[in-house]
Amino acid sequence: MKTIIEPFRIKTVEPIKMTTVKERRRLIREAHYNLFSLESEDVIIDLLTDSGTGAMSTNQWSALMKGDESYAGSPSYYRFENAIRDLMPFKHVIPTHQGRAAEHILTFVVADGHGKGKIVPNNTHFDTTRANFEDAEIDARDLVISEGLDPSNEHPFKGNMDLEKLEELLASEADNIPMVEITITNNAIGGQPVSMANIRGTKAICDKYGKPLIIDSARFAENAYFIKLREPGYHDKAVKEIVREMFSHADGMTMSAKKDTFANMGGWLALNNDEWAEKARTRLIMTEGFPTYGGLSGRDMECIATGLEEIIHEDYLQYRIRSVQYINERLDAMGVPVMKPAGGHAIFVDAKRMLSHIEPLQYPAQALAVALYIHGGIRGVEIGSFMFGRQPDGSEKPAAMELVRLAMPRRVYTQAQADYIVEVFQELKNNTSKIPGLEVIWEPSSLRHFTARLRPLAKA
Ligand SMILES: *Cc1c(COP(=O)(O)O)cnc(C)c1O
Repeated sequence: MKTIIEPFRIKTVEPIKMTTVKERRRLIREAHYNLFSLESEDVIIDLLTDSGTGAMSTNQWSALMKGDESYAGSPSYYRFENAIRDLMPFKHVIPTHQGRAAEHILTFVVADGHGKGKIVPNNTHFDTTRANFEDAEIDARDLVISEGLDPSNEHPFKGNMDLEKLEELLASEADNIPMVEITITNNAIGGQPVSMANIRGTKAICDKYGKPLIIDSARFAENAYFIKLREPGYHDKAVKEIVREMFSHADGMTMSAKKDTFANMGGWLALNNDEWAEKARTRLIMTEGFPTYGGLSGRDMECIATGLEEIIHEDYLQYRIRSVQYINERLDAMGVPVMKPAGGHAIFVDAKRMLSHIEPLQYPAQALAVALYIHGGIRGVEIGSFMFGRQPDGSEKPAAMELVRLAMPRRVYTQAQADYIVEVFQELKNNTSKIPGLEVIWEPSSLRHFTARLRPLAKA
């Protein structure tokens, strides 16, 4: 059979409140044209993020009941630790309330009281990873291959580290580099995968200079499946084997369990180095909790352990990667400018090209996101000049790209809902000239995209 179906049945449903175009015009006006200010019940298809929004399975819901809430030495912790070490055989597993808490603790350890002058290279730092390093005055350096920055380049592993640049940096700055990081999939440039050869190559350079390699692992299973699909020599390997091989090249990991474990909350830090683990646990007790629960309840750890078994099912991964690709291909076929090839978790639409009549500082991607909401009740997120345009000196500068990201929650939406998303684009595509740009009428002093208020400019 060629048709790939959702490999699950639905037992519990959350009704969607249907709204009309007229109602949504009012709702978005009342939200000051900022999609973060909408109540989620007023959204039909919510593609704001794939973080913490996945659907849990019957096995996960029943695992929750087994959660043991003992303060120390809970059996739920040991199940969590075993499930992790079955895939990622690190010596120390440290639970945290989410990924950024693991990053915060890792940063504390590697900064070691004086971050200034230190550099951490990564293929591309995710924004909380960068923020944690920079907060400790560590220079967070992005070294992704140049193909990764070209939205239409169809390189199979656009997330890869540029190994030449990494080697150059280590050759000249080794004394200032406490660790090297690699993010799989490379979230910040569109959920693009990293090849096994690239992970191996990164590790070889790390070994040459005696540096630990840490994997930022939020979408590790999606990355492993891309390796199976695209990398010579891996087609017949089980995803579980691929996952184990990826992590065998690393000395530690940080994890956001809100992505590839289907959990609503959670994370961890894992390390081989005893001295680092000791420092991390001491810090953990101050900021998260005792080492056998960190920031998590026993039931969270049970649910993550079960999610780890489910996320590497190949029927699931085939459906997951294909369902994102499907929307991307259909949009591409009708001439909507999308980032190619599709990454693992989201579709990225190039609003600069789709709404070329809107100037960058009239926020074409925000205008498209607003139009998607008005016409279809779809909520995506702007990644462009509205998010990044305001400079520290108060001036405003266009961002490099004007994108709308449509992030797909895991196991949540059906094929008909995917077709609906495509149809909304079809309708908008024939009327783009009617979509107005926007202006900001109020903004806070930083991170304006979460709370700023906007209004549409007079129609073009
Ligand atoms: C989401 C994410 C994080 C941060 O994790 P949270 O659980 O949101 O704190 C870090 N790195 C990557 C690559 C992510 O996608």
